[in-house]
Amino acid sequence: MCRQNYLLKIAQKIFLALLVLSIIHTPILAEPVSAQDETLPVYIVQSGDTLFDIANQFYTTVDEILAVNGLSNGDTLLVGDRLLIPGLEGMQGTLTTEIIPLGANLRSLSRRTQSDPASLAKLNKFTSQSELFVGRRIALTTLEATQDLQMLPALTPGQSWLELALLSGQNPWALARLNQLSSPNLALPLDPYFYHSGQEATEVLAIPGVRSMSIDNLPLMQGETYVLKAETAENVSISAELAGNSAVFFPYENGELVAFGGINALQAHGAYPLKITVTTAENITYNFDQWVIIKPGYFQSSIDLMVDPETIDSPEIAEEDARVREIVTKVTPIKQWNGAFKYPIAGSDCVNADFGSRRTYNGSDKVYYHTGIDLGYCEGTDVFAPATGTVAAILPNQLVRGNLLIIDHGLGVYSIYMHLSEILVEVGEVVQPGQRIAILGNTGRSTGPHLHFEIDINGTPVNPWTWFNREFP
Ligand SMILES: [Zn+2]
Repeated sequence: MCRQNYLLKIAQKIFLALLVLSIIHTPILAEPVSAQDETLPVYIVQSGDTLFDIANQFYTTVDEILAVNGLSNGDTLLVGDRLLIPGLEGMQGTLTTEIIPLGANLRSLSRRTQSDPASLAKLNKFTSQSELFVGRRIALTTLEATQDLQMLPALTPGQSWLELALLSGQNPWALARLNQLSSPNLALPLDPYFYHSGQEATEVLAIPGVRSMSIDNLPLMQGETYVLKAETAENVSISAELAGNSAVFFPYENGELVAFGGINALQAHGAYPLKITVTTAENITYNFDQWVIIKPGYFQSSIDLMVDPETIDSPEIAEEDARVREIVTKVTPIKQWNGAFKYPIAGSDCVNADFGSRRTYNGSDKVYYHTGIDLGYCEGTDVFAPATGTVAAILPNQLVRGNLLIIDHGLGVYSIYMHLSEILVEVGEVVQPGQRIAILGNTGRSTGPHLHFEIDINGTPVNPWTWFNREFP
């Protein structure tokens, strides 16, 4: 018995020793790099990328990227290099980034990339739909097999999945599986669905009658202008609304529709739904919302101005505001201007007060903002038309605005000139860029000779510098 026990103990010791040895050996036998290759997605280095940007985009750190790729530093990074991205275990494919287009949502992005919404949310740290705003750069995993996924024509209310699939020459059940639907009955009208087109896919929208739609001048900011462009089928009308302001669409070049919108300079920054309404030739109306982010503008902060209390809040001022509003909210359908707007005075360094600067009056808490730019008279007193337009109104001796001139440039865009001493044009006259139209002055609520120059879009004052610096649309 004793000897048997002894042998048993020896056997146990040998067994334990083997076990320990095998544990020590395991990491050496397995190849850690290839094991990680299978469980982490890959990012292909693009021109202009830095390791820091890549780490930021995928919510990791430079050190972690270096460690997981067995690199000692990122200085040797080359375009086309394949980097494993840590922290994304279980995701497959190649990581790419793209700017969220109009019309995309979490479901459509996950269908198009054949990934599940939870992975997409994890990849981009989404906690709510509003984080999927237009213009945000997001990360996606893409597989070779998804490159040709193209959006189906929209499922219209009353149309069955079977009908849609057959019309598109697709097998309804295979199509449902591809679109992550457990049953074809769960398909929703106007939701984006995809099929294998066999060709490189292009971006389309799941709205009947609308071939494409885009938004320009991103990121949207307080006091800024935005432009919507749409390609539609014949006799389709569109309207849009953002943060309480509507944008009106007009026929533009090549059958495209274009709309201008302005964002109020005091609009609280944050996420807002851009509401788009489409009415088809058959008079059916579709609505869709897409989140956009309005960022804070860069404005000078509060200056307290001492002015005649009569010129702040009075029935006369309310009347004057209403009179001007009525003029600048009329929308004429022809775009008259071409290219960027010209500076309206000679000399470009005469800004007394910039657009959007916050101000209070006579020590009150109520915050106003400067709706235009105040230009002094450094190089003469002449005021020039910034672009082609039609003189919409001349209102002499206004309490706040003094002698006031308003020019209509079309599509809801107006330029406004205040405190003038003289006006050299007539209502209805078409003015050309650079034409002398007025003499600056000190009329109305003004503490010295200057021109208050303003650009309004559908009645919302916007930053004129943007119009001096770029062409619209
Ligand atoms: Zn001003």
